[in-house]
Amino acid sequence: MTFESAGFPSEILKEIHHAGFSAPTPIQAQSWPIALQSHDIVAIAKTGSGKTLGYLIPGFIHLKRLHNNSKMGPTVLVLAPTRELATQIEDEAVKFGRSSRISCTCLYGGAPKGPQLRDLDRGVDVVVATPGRLNDILEMRRVSLRQVSYLVLDEADRMLDMGFEPQIRKIVKEIPHRRQTLMFTATWPKEVRKIAADLLVHPIQVNIGSID
Ligand code: ADP
Ligand code: MG
Repeated sequence: MTFESAGFPSEILKEIHHAGFSAPTPIQAQSWPIALQSHDIVAIAKTGSGKTLGYLIPGFIHLKRLHNNSKMGPTVLVLAPTRELATQIEDEAVKFGRSSRISCTCLYGGAPKGPQLRDLDRGVDVVVATPGRLNDILEMRRVSLRQVSYLVLDEADRMLDMGFEPQIRKIVKEIPHRRQTLMFTATWPKEVRKIAADLLVHPIQVNIGSID
């Protein structure tokens, strides 16, 4: 597969060329066609395999199809286990979404809520969040997830290891059932299989490399 054959809009191809990437990674080549057809996905792949763009680019295309008003809340929600990972994902979203005029913010703990709430008030298309902080902000009723229709659980196994399962389930209750859900994980133990069975609908499973 080439980037050109993926059927992306020119603004996104421009950013990919700008980044100097020569070809999609295996996880990207496998997940893009599935994600673009609006299927749920469980992808099992190791760190460093290019998962972030594997879900962000189809998320951007999903977003552009909908023309939602970002003032009403985000359309794309990415949950990640740590502040570091969440900010890395946000950086990638900002970089690759810039030409498509996609707005993004990052919500994580250990930092004041004020600036995060101000970004939400301004309206954002994509929210990248750690489950704890997003739950706090939901309890304050300062964000609505009623417009989310593309949900990503990145590093799902790590989020469960860190004890975020109750927060994840509370967050998902705020999101309409009519959505596309993508789960990325490095391992496939029974806890992850259970939450996948509960939150995803007929997911297509993508395995890159061996399963532990
Ligand atoms: P993962 O989430 O699987 O650990 P990342 O999405 O963080 O991996 O990607 C790892 C690095 O590879 C990032 O710096 C990213 O920008 C880069 N990258 C992503 N896709 C490609 C590609 N097709 N070619 C080269 N580098 C890429
Ligand atoms: Mg990652």
